[in-house]
Amino acid sequence: MSRVLIIGAGGVGGVVTHKCAQVPEVFTDIVLASRTLEKCDKIRAQISRPIRTARVDADNTAELTALIREVSPDLIINVALPYQDLSIMNACLETGVDYLDTANYEPRDEARFCYKWQWDYHDRFRDRGIMGLLGCGFDPGVTNIFCAHALKHHFEEIRTIDIVDCNAGKHGHAFATNFNPEINIREVTARGKYFENGRWIETDPLSVHETFDFPEIGPREMYLMYHEELESLAKNIPGVRRIRFWMTFSQEYLTHLRVLQNVGMTRIDPVSFQGCEIVPLQFLKALLPDPSSLAQNYEGKTCIGCVIEGIREGKPGKYFIYNICDHAEAYREVKAQAISYTTGVPAMIGGMLMLTGAWRGRGVFNVEEFDPDPFMEKLPLHGLPWTEKFLE
Ligand code: NDP
Repeated sequence: MSRVLIIGAGGVGGVVTHKCAQVPEVFTDIVLASRTLEKCDKIRAQISRPIRTARVDADNTAELTALIREVSPDLIINVALPYQDLSIMNACLETGVDYLDTANYEPRDEARFCYKWQWDYHDRFRDRGIMGLLGCGFDPGVTNIFCAHALKHHFEEIRTIDIVDCNAGKHGHAFATNFNPEINIREVTARGKYFENGRWIETDPLSVHETFDFPEIGPREMYLMYHEELESLAKNIPGVRRIRFWMTFSQEYLTHLRVLQNVGMTRIDPVSFQGCEIVPLQFLKALLPDPSSLAQNYEGKTCIGCVIEGIREGKPGKYFIYNICDHAEAYREVKAQAISYTTGVPAMIGGMLMLTGAWRGRGVFNVEEFDPDPFMEKLPLHGLPWTEKFLE
C-alpha cells in the first residue's frame, strides 16, 4: 500500500501518472498536483483508475508542505521544472517524505547544470532518514543505469562513455522543442563540456559534431553538449577516462536557433518592454507550441544509448546499448510523445524500486549507485526495451 504525490502536469507528468496507474499493486493511491489544476484534471480524465488532483505552487515551500501534510504520501515524484527541485526537497525534509526527480536543479537566472546544490542535501536527508533519487529519467537516468549495467556484467574497467541521443521524429512544426522550451533552449545554447583524464574541457556551443549511424534511423549529425549525467558518472564510474554527451539536431532546428539567438530571443536576463520587464526566453516559450501538444501528430523514433569502451575479459572491447522508442506508439498508449515517454517510464520504475525497497538508502543518490539489475528487468516490461551489442 503506497501513496505517490506527482508534482508537475506537463508532458512527463502525464506519462508518470499513466504509468503509475498501470501498476496499482505498488501505486495504490495517486495524487497529481501542479500549478494549473486544469492540466491535472485533463490527465485524470485520460485514466480509468480514480486519482486525486490538486493545485500547488511548488516554488512556495510552505504551500507545498501543507499539501504534503494533507496528502501524506510515501514518495514525491518531482516532474515540474528544475527550478522547483530545491523547494520540493526542502518540503520533503520538513515532512520526512522520500523524493525522486528527473532533472537537476537550475537557478532561474543562471543556465548552469550542477549537482552540487542537490548533493549538498545528502547529510540532511540521511539524518532525516529519507531518500532522494536524482535524475531518474532517460538521460540522465537510464543512460547512467546502462553504464552501471555494462560495468556490472561486461567490463572489468570502463574507459570511455559516449552518450548518444537522437530524436528522428517529425512533429510538423518548423520549430518546436520536445520538452519545456525554456529549459531545452538554455541547455542547447550553453557551452559544450566533456570530461577527459580528470579534467573538464569546454567547447563553443554546438561546435564539435560527428556523424553516427543510429539503429532503425540511419546516419545523423550529432553535436557535443554538456549534460548533467556527465558530472555524476565522472564521480561514480571508477577510473573512467572520458565521458561525452551527443545530441542530434536537424539543420532546420539549428538555423531557427541561430536566428533566435542572434536577435536576442534566447536571453534569460530581463529586458524592459513598453514599461514592463520581460525575459525574452520566457516570452519565446509563450509563442512556441506546448511540448505536450506535439504528441498527437508526432511520427518517427528516438534512439538513446551509450557507446562504451573498456577492458573486457582482459582485452579492449567496444559496446553499444540503446533503446528505440516510437512517438506514435507512445501516443497511442499514454497520449504523449516519445521524449516525455522515455522520461516518465524510468521515473515510475525508480519510484517503484524505492517503494518496494529494492533501491533503498538514506541520503541523496544518483541512479548508477544502485544495483542496475532490477531496473533493467523492469524497463522492457513497462515499455522501454533495450538492446546491447558488442562492436569490437
Ligand atoms: P512541461 O513544461 O511540459 O511541464 C512542467 C510542469 O510543471 C507543468 O505542468 C507546469 O505547470 C509545472 N510547474 C512549473 N512550475 C511549477 C510550480 N512552481 N509549481 C507547480 N508546478 C509547476 O515540462 P516536461 O513535462 O517536458 O518536463 C518535466 C521535467 O522533466 C523537467 O524538469 C525536464 O527538465 C525533465 N526532463 C527530463 C528528461 C530526462 O531524460 N531526464 C527529459 C525531458 C524532460 P504549468 O502548466 O502551470 O506551467
